[in-house]
Amino acid sequence: MSYVDEVIEQVVKQNPAEPEFHQAVKEVLESLRVVVEANEEKYRKDALLERLVNPERQIKFRVPWIDDQGQVQVNTGYRVQFSSAIGPYKGGLRLHPSVNLGIIKFLGFEQIFKNSLTGLPIGGGKGGSDFDPKGKSDREVMAFCQSFITELYKYIGADTDVPAGDIGTGAREIGYMYGQYKRIRGVYEGVLTGKGLSYGGSLARTEATGYGLLYLTEELLKMNGIELSGKTIVVSGSGNVAIYAIQKAQQLGAKVVTCSDSTGWIYDEEGIDVAALKEIKEVKRARLTEYKNYRPNSEYHEGKGVWSVKADIALPCATQNELNLEDAKTLVSNGCIGVFEGANMPTTLEATEYLQANNVIFAPGKAANAGGVATSALEMSQNSERLSWSFEEVDSKLKEIMVNICHNISDAAERYGAKGNYVVGANIAGFEKVVDAMNAQGIV
Ligand code: NDP
Repeated sequence: MSYVDEVIEQVVKQNPAEPEFHQAVKEVLESLRVVVEANEEKYRKDALLERLVNPERQIKFRVPWIDDQGQVQVNTGYRVQFSSAIGPYKGGLRLHPSVNLGIIKFLGFEQIFKNSLTGLPIGGGKGGSDFDPKGKSDREVMAFCQSFITELYKYIGADTDVPAGDIGTGAREIGYMYGQYKRIRGVYEGVLTGKGLSYGGSLARTEATGYGLLYLTEELLKMNGIELSGKTIVVSGSGNVAIYAIQKAQQLGAKVVTCSDSTGWIYDEEGIDVAALKEIKEVKRARLTEYKNYRPNSEYHEGKGVWSVKADIALPCATQNELNLEDAKTLVSNGCIGVFEGANMPTTLEATEYLQANNVIFAPGKAANAGGVATSALEMSQNSERLSWSFEEVDSKLKEIMVNICHNISDAAERYGAKGNYVVGANIAGFEKVVDAMNAQGIV
C-alpha cells in the first residue's frame, strides 16, 4: 500500500467519528500524492505524514457559566494547536452548537496550509466551543467568554498561540475575551486578533476575508482571460465573510443576487443592498426575513437554494459541506464558470471533482479565504511594533498577498503537471514551506 493510503487509513482508524477531519486529510494527502511519491523513502523514515496529521497538542476543557435565570450551563471548549513549524499557532475560535473535536481538527489542519500560503510566519491552530451566542443576552455572552478564557489563557500568548474570530465569534466576543485575558495575565499584548480599533485592532481586518476572496477571484479569472466586472454572482451566508465579499464584488463591477443564513435565502435581482444587509446582520442581529422590509422587490425563500440561481460565479461563504454534488451539477448546467470558496471546505469532495471535471475554475478555501488570517498576521505585526497602519496600507498589503497566492498556487500546480488545478496547487505550495521547516527543525 502507498504511504499516502496507509496514513489516510490510519487517520480514519485512530480518529473515529470525525468525518470532517477525514475529509480534510484525504483532500490534502490525495493532492500531495505526487510530491510524497517522489520522496517516499525519506518521508516514511521520518514519519513525516504521521507528524503532519497529528496535532502537536489538543486541549479540551469545561466551560461553566451562569445564564440570566441563574441556571449554571456547561459547554465544552477546544483548542487544537496543530503545527508550529513556521510560526506561533494561529486560527480562529468557532462558537456554534455543531462544534466538536473533529470539526476543530479539520479546521486546524486546513489552517496549517492556508497560513503557509500567506507567506507570513504563522503556524496552524483552531479552537472554539459548542456554545451558541445566538439568542443570548450580552451578559450571557460575556459570562461565557470570560469563563472560556479563564481556562484557555494558560495555553495562548502573543508568541505562542494567537486565536481570532470565526463563525459566532465577532468583535463583541473577541472584546470580552481580550478583557478577561488582560485581567488575568496583567499584560497588554496582541494575544487575540480581530480586536476593536480602540484597543489594538487593525483597520481592514473586518473586511479582509471577503475583500481578499474577491482580490483572488479577480486575479484568477484574469489569469484565465476572464473579466470579473459585469459578472453575476451567487453568494451563500450573510456573516462577516459574505457581507464584505458582496461589498467588494459590487465595487469591482459584478452583481451579487443572493445571500443566505441558516434558515433561508434572498434573491434580489437588482443586486443585494449591502447597507441593508449590514444593518440586519451586524446591528440588529436579526433574520434575513427582514430584508424584504428594505427591498420589497426581493424574494425570501425558506431553506437552502442559492445554488439553484443562474450565475457566472459562486462564492460559498457560510459553512462546511454546504455545496454538494447536486448543487455542483445545477451550477454547471446554469453555465457557472468559477467557484471560489469563502468558507472553509464548503464544497464536498464529490462536488469539487465534478466542478473541476467540467472545467469550472475552482479555488479552495485555504487559498481563497486566506486574506482573513493574513490580515490577522498584519494585526500581530502592528501590535508588536505598537503602531497602527492606515486602511489603505493594510488593504494594499492584503491585495498583494492574495495576488501572490494566485501565482504561487498556479505555479505549484503546473510544476507537478496539474495546470489549472488550484486544489493541488494550494496544497503543494502550502506543504512545501511547512515540510522544509519541519525537516530543518529535526524530529519534534
Ligand atoms: P459568521 O458567523 O459571521 O457568519 C456565518 C454565516 O453562515 C451566517 O450567515 C450563518 O447563518 C451561516 N451559517 C453558519 N452555519 C451554518 C449552517 N450550519 N448552515 C447554514 N448556514 C450557516 O461567520 P464568518 O462569516 O466569519 O465565517 C463563514 C465561513 O468562513 C466559515 O466557514 C469560516 O470558518 C470561514 N472563514 C472565516 C474567516 C473570518 O475572517 N471570519 C476567515 C477564513 C474563513 P446564521 O446567521 O443563521 O447562523
